Amino acid sequence: MELGQTICRPGVPDCLSCPVAGFCKSQEPEVLPVKRQKTVVTQVDEHAVWLRDDAGRLLLHREGGKRRQGLWKLPTRDAEEISALPVVDESRYMITRYRVRLIVHDGDGVRETFQTAADEVWQEIDVVLALAMPSPFRRAIGRLIVER
Ligand code: SF4
Repeated sequence: MELGQTICRPGVPDCLSCPVAGFCKSQEPEVLPVKRQKTVVTQVDEHAVWLRDDAGRLLLHREGGKRRQGLWKLPTRDAEEISALPVVDESRYMITRYRVRLIVHDGDGVRETFQTAADEVWQEIDVVLALAMPSPFRRAIGRLIVER
């Protein structure tokens, strides 16, 4: 601590008087400390659909891939496909360097025409919150179960 205040000061290190010069690995002492590059945060929108069938079951998507395998979430679609549907929930979350706006659309208007994918399953509403799922989706689904 003291070394940083008295000898190895930012921009003007006194390397000749430094007691740890023999161990120092700095190649360019005069430019210390090197500031870490700021992470560039990217904003993205994620469009999901809230869709229940006649029996009240909720359509969920089961994730594949290495990191999220087996997790459940609301089905997502490209913005062009569902962004015209009414928004029933909106929230934000951060994941790595992404700031995500999670927008949930009401799928009632497209219930008859909505194309489900092979990895999408109708789940009984009573068990939905007991399934493993990313927290932002759990919170959104929890809010929507109460509201709708
Ligand atoms: S030798 Fe290394 S630790 Fe010592 S003052 Fe110079 S840069 Fe700092």
